[in-house]
Amino acid sequence: MSWRYDHREFLPPNLVQFNGKTYIVPGWRRVAKGTRLSNIRHVKPQISEVPVPTSKYKTIYYPESGKAYCDCMGYFRSKGNCKHVKALKLENNGQ
Ligand SMILES: [Zn+2]
Repeated sequence: MSWRYDHREFLPPNLVQFNGKTYIVPGWRRVAKGTRLSNIRHVKPQISEVPVPTSKYKTIYYPESGKAYCDCMGYFRSKGNCKHVKALKLENNGQ
């Protein structure tokens, strides 16, 4: 076997079969048929806090879990999806 996959998730990879296709979970990344766990390298993301220096609010985003925190009013009104959190997520997903 020559293929190899980097699994960049916090949780260890698992292989599932769905509709005759093979996926790595979490993440639902489709991989070649016959892929084994030994073909997948588990790359754990670094735990990092990403503050927003230009905001008067304290916004923290944890890329490895997808969780975010902000202390503005919009954060509570939107149940955790204020514009600061959205901006941080966009920034991190673009990397
Ligand atoms: Zn906010």
